[in-house]
Amino acid sequence: MKFNELGLSQPVLQALDLKGYDTPTPIQEQAIPPVLEGRDLLGIAQTGTGKTAAFMLPSIDRLRASDNRIPFKSCRMLVLAPTRELATQIAQSAKDYGALAGLKVQVIVGGTSVNKDRNKLHRGTDILIATPGRLLDLIDQKAFNLSGVEVLVLDEADQMLDLGFIHALRTINKLVPPERQTLFFSATMPKQIKELVSGYCNNPVTVTVTPAATTAERIDQYLFMVQQDEKQALLELILSGRHDTPGELERVLIFTRTKHGADRVVKKLSQAGISANAIHGNKSQPQRQRALDEFRRGKTHILVATDVAARGIDIPGVSHVINYELPNVPEQYVHRIGRTARAGKDGIAIAFCAEDERAYLKDIQRNTDAELDRLALPENFRAVVEGVGPTKPPPKGQTRVSRKRVQPRPAGAGKPRSDGPSEGSRKPKQKHQSRKGRPGNSGGGRPGGGNRRGGSGRRKGGGRPGGGGPRAAQG
Ligand code: AMP
Repeated sequence: MKFNELGLSQPVLQALDLKGYDTPTPIQEQAIPPVLEGRDLLGIAQTGTGKTAAFMLPSIDRLRASDNRIPFKSCRMLVLAPTRELATQIAQSAKDYGALAGLKVQVIVGGTSVNKDRNKLHRGTDILIATPGRLLDLIDQKAFNLSGVEVLVLDEADQMLDLGFIHALRTINKLVPPERQTLFFSATMPKQIKELVSGYCNNPVTVTVTPAATTAERIDQYLFMVQQDEKQALLELILSGRHDTPGELERVLIFTRTKHGADRVVKKLSQAGISANAIHGNKSQPQRQRALDEFRRGKTHILVATDVAARGIDIPGVSHVINYELPNVPEQYVHRIGRTARAGKDGIAIAFCAEDERAYLKDIQRNTDAELDRLALPENFRAVVEGVGPTKPPPKGQTRVSRKRVQPRPAGAGKPRSDGPSEGSRKPKQKHQSRKGRPGNSGGGRPGGGNRRGGSGRRKGGGRPGGGGPRAAQG
């Protein structure tokens, strides 16, 4: 199936051509035709499946076809997203996909100047992407209204509920015109979401894709059993290339559970001469955006994030996700590692598990079918942690990231520390071959290059972005 078989207009097809997409992902294949017909849609899918294009492409065509004027202080299409980063990302996609359609796109998120938002929305817009809180602020101030909405999209509805937006969503439902089209996306369907769906949607077409499996199957997952107070040293050894781990570190996203934890990691990395940025809820929106942009552009190679701040972000080329602390909710592990292996690429996830996180690890393994290959700690590791070992910190500014290709050291190789628990431990697999030539970019076009495939730590099944068995049903 090609995009040009789905009934999309020439300007949209040309924009897709410019982006280099020719084959729709399963959710796009299933969702685009009914959305073009004006049907409501319930998409059970996460980011990584191509769902942004699934709702944006047909909506752009419908907006073009209806050709209504931009309403004063209102919008024709409203997309609600849980986080600032996701909203900004969707806005960028809307601009890319609608580049030749001549539609005006605006984005409003919390943490930025409300006055600027008021001014930019005064004359209305075709497409507005908003976080619910900021949208309601402007509505309360009579600076904006929803009377012009023809298409309403709720993206990551379950995440919006997690972030406490249930009342906002109920309020917004009362303010949008009843005859609009609604496209509702959620990765999970708890009871509250079902209630919201029945309030928002009218006889929706339901499309389900199973991204967790399809993402995970392209990710090699590894595990270090390590004491809490050794984690920072281990991280520094990995990032500085002093301990071999699988794959070539190009862009590394590190997860901590708390904001303070993220700051602490960044500070200690900086003391070790390794430059990194943090994104979390205590950072201002411009700081968060700057950190993301620098990471996206490759100016910084290491980003330390909390779950909420990194939720749904799509940065191509994240080679490694390091779970510095394991999440206490197994689904969060899937969200985290899904930040690598984007758009059909492969990725590597490395978990640091301390003694008091074993229960989280068990939960993750039980609930996600994740198989984590255990890696050995460096030789003399304890001595290094205590600062008396032979390993010196890297020269300032010299990190391994994007510079060096390494071989993994599987558990059992060399002289690993013999203490520590054995969860997740399995037979070593020699699958990460060194590449010849200059480090950093000789992998034949694939981030990280080399051979990352081979079965470790991934689920079984096929592998295109968003692949994995779409199921379409009339609901
Ligand atoms: P999303 O689930 O919307 O966040 O999309 C995940 C990633 O897949 C984004 O980087 C998209 O640009 C990319 N993508 C979406 N649709 C396609 C497609 N049909 N072919 C290739 N990449 C795509």
